[in-house]
Amino acid sequence: MMRKERKGIILATLIMCCQLSVSEKAHAADYYTFNDHVLVYGVGDYGSDRQKYYITPSAETYRTQITNAMSDWIYTTDRLNYTTPISYRETSEYSKSRMDIYAASKGPYVGYNAQTSFYNDNISTGVIDKYKYSWTRNKITLNTTSNSVSNMTGPQIRGVFAHEMGHCFGLDENNGNTSSIMCTWANGRNVNKSQIIVQADMEEQSESVDRKIVRNISMSFDYELVLPTLEELKEKAPFIFEGKLEKIDSYVSSEAGGTIETDYYYEVTNAFTDNLQIGDIVKVNNVGGCVPCEEYFATVDKKSDADEKLAKQKNVYVESLIEGAPMPEIGKKYILFTGYFNGAYNVVGMNQGLFYPDGNGSYFRYYPKELSEKERIKGIKIQDNKLQLVDNTQK
Ligand SMILES: [Zn+2]
Repeated sequence: MMRKERKGIILATLIMCCQLSVSEKAHAADYYTFNDHVLVYGVGDYGSDRQKYYITPSAETYRTQITNAMSDWIYTTDRLNYTTPISYRETSEYSKSRMDIYAASKGPYVGYNAQTSFYNDNISTGVIDKYKYSWTRNKITLNTTSNSVSNMTGPQIRGVFAHEMGHCFGLDENNGNTSSIMCTWANGRNVNKSQIIVQADMEEQSESVDRKIVRNISMSFDYELVLPTLEELKEKAPFIFEGKLEKIDSYVSSEAGGTIETDYYYEVTNAFTDNLQIGDIVKVNNVGGCVPCEEYFATVDKKSDADEKLAKQKNVYVESLIEGAPMPEIGKKYILFTGYFNGAYNVVGMNQGLFYPDGNGSYFRYYPKELSEKERIKGIKIQDNKLQLVDNTQK
């Protein structure tokens, strides 16, 4: 059984800021640090110990963006379902501040939108090298005459401040991941707030990326197994669980003749067979998925002119769905009836063993047309840690 690895599937850029997880080495793509150097006094201990930031008169115009950028770092529980200890409050006393915020006209050609400097009062009065030393305070300066800043919207400027604050918290640039707040503007950052970063396929899962499905390949199958009832599902599925989807990895399978397949990584939140435990990460392979056109058409031998064109575009995707049933979504919980074969878990009966949340505590499935006239499960729910039939959910 694949156990949940602590360093595994999801790590937040946030975690580093909290400076709690230095001992847990994250996947390289999640975040980078300045050789693990940090703000000497920490980033605060939410609810008890606070750090302070100071908005200098020069940056008064940007107060709203600055305040909101800081809130985006502090208040993550509702937005990201992740609580950080980050605790900062504005101070009107410069001497108490660990983060001073300025705005200045540096001209359109200096090549930066904003800059963060690092100081350590115990070492020097001047700027220190953050790759060599930890720091005791920072200065952030927005370049008001940068070409890009002068064309930015309010939320984008808020994103610039959020990025610089991330540096103060100990995070270096993360330019390989445009969904990270620590990606620079110049490298195409497309978020204005801190995010939970999943280690692969960031673009596919970020709500702020404009993902365009330009080709649908619908699949239908001759079902070998028809599993209308709960009993039949249970009989065919040695591994049954409720799981929260943590990660999606779609790809074009060369073994399966160029069809799109997906590995879904679920964290078990309820186990209905005793071969699984809460917290296990289960990788479930299924046909169907969504891949960039570039990746898809690379596997097609004879491409039309239209295909060639699509293959060159960014953020355009080919989607392939089983009988029109949508792909499960990150962060939601599903009930899965699975088997294990050749090193992978599989949903039994294509997706007959996959139950979607209906938003009211029950789960339903998209069943194949073959089942439409037969006796079938309308819905299930979890009661007393057991699966119960319900008949009010139907798709
Ligand atoms: Zn930066």
